[in-house]
Amino acid sequence: MSNILYDGIFTPNANSEKTFIITPKGEISYLEFTAMTNKLANILVKKGLNPGDRVAVQSDKSVLYLALYAATIKAGCVFLPLNTAYTSSELDYFINDVEPRLVVVGDNAMNSLALLAKEIGSEIMSLNGDETGTLAAVAKNESPVFEAVARTGEDLAAILYTSGTTGKSKGAKLCHRNLLSNAKVISEAWQFTADDILLHMLPVYHTHGLFVAINLLAMVGGSIIFLPKFNVEDALSWMPKSTSMMGIPTFYTRLLNSSDFTQELTDHMRLFISGSAPMLTETHLQFEERTGKNILERYGMTETSMSISNPYNGTRIPGTVGKPLSGIDIRITDAASGQLVQPGDIGVIEQRGDNVFLGYWRKQDETAESFRDDGFFITGDLGREDENGYITIVGRNKDLIISGGLNIYPKEIESVIDEIDDVTESAVIGVPHRDFGEAVVAIIVSNGNTLSDEDIQNHLVTKLAKFKQPKKILYANDLPRNTMGKVQKAELRKHHAKIFHEE
Ligand code: AMP
Repeated sequence: MSNILYDGIFTPNANSEKTFIITPKGEISYLEFTAMTNKLANILVKKGLNPGDRVAVQSDKSVLYLALYAATIKAGCVFLPLNTAYTSSELDYFINDVEPRLVVVGDNAMNSLALLAKEIGSEIMSLNGDETGTLAAVAKNESPVFEAVARTGEDLAAILYTSGTTGKSKGAKLCHRNLLSNAKVISEAWQFTADDILLHMLPVYHTHGLFVAINLLAMVGGSIIFLPKFNVEDALSWMPKSTSMMGIPTFYTRLLNSSDFTQELTDHMRLFISGSAPMLTETHLQFEERTGKNILERYGMTETSMSISNPYNGTRIPGTVGKPLSGIDIRITDAASGQLVQPGDIGVIEQRGDNVFLGYWRKQDETAESFRDDGFFITGDLGREDENGYITIVGRNKDLIISGGLNIYPKEIESVIDEIDDVTESAVIGVPHRDFGEAVVAIIVSNGNTLSDEDIQNHLVTKLAKFKQPKKILYANDLPRNTMGKVQKAELRKHHAKIFHEE
């Protein structure tokens, strides 16, 4: 029996001398990566980890981090990457929830994660970059040979905690079938091959930077330019050596803000992909104007990996996320009744396919509530499908505003506000209001020029029904975002919760 994920992703190129990872410090071949992986897998087994045991990791990006991911899979264990920004109370919850057998911290110091891990009796090791830390030290004496532990498609490969914008975040259980099938689907959809060199500036504790990027490139035998994080200078200097780039919208807006980001620099690039947060139509258009290329926008989430994408060949439509990827069933339903909405109407996006996760870790009720009886997963994202099958994401269901009993979709209002000259971006939220239940509030970021409420209202008055027009307009220097570029609407709602009650 084989190890479904490891054999599908890493085995095909395991003995290749081709470069897998390029870092500012040097290059690592597939063969070297395999040896590193095997040494780490040997450590896991010697530490007594059994198939199904969880390995939690909180550390900066490094090649060793990636090898630990591959080793965990190869040893039949479950990989649990933790966001490096988590506070100790968040870590406390994750560690107690997931009970990892091994916890790998970023440095040798007894940081809060290590202390928590100690309390519940986990093994603790450290991973300080590629050269130091106990994991690197112990690996030096390990054998570079390791036989993969057999795992079926249904066995757990990873647990990824969702961003948790409402309530506690939940651990999404991803199995070998989920991750392998998605790498195959996107390699075909986006035509990745061994000739690709991906510019990688995403974090690796998130599905985008870890599974979408790493699994895909490893599977096709491509190379990855692996940089610690995004900054414009590095992106510009490494782009000439790349063929493709995956990013969140912020990467693209920041690149466009630099006059050094030119058509010449991108001429050789095969593909620019964006996702994890909505990209403004304006950004798509500016990018095309500057480079002559269209960004391919796609949609996915921790629980489902990639599920909807604009086409590689064919028209990429700004403001949409394209059509369902091959083998993935998508339907749009009424949130309350679960019935299909009329074509063109807004509803909740549901999906079913090999990509859809197994459920939430130790959360039976939340899992049951998230699935329909016929196996469709209720994403909580609102969307609309046009007559050509292109889907537009309208926002999260929980961000829907109900004012005076009427449904208001923030995205619709944001799109109209964003048309105004001098508006860079906006966020529209619902805030408690005595008369209306909730009232529409717009938070606007300008390009530096002063905007007045009157400018905004004059523009909206002919374009939006009265009940959709903001009852209050606020101005901000920027919008609160998480590391994946998502606007934190829950934070905005909390911050402005009392503005009508204070009047
Ligand atoms: P995460 O689980 O952190 O990957 O977040 C997934 C969520 O990001 C989805 O449920 C959507 O709300 C949002 N998202 C991802 N891609 C897009 C996109 N292209 N446009 C709009 N929202 C997106």
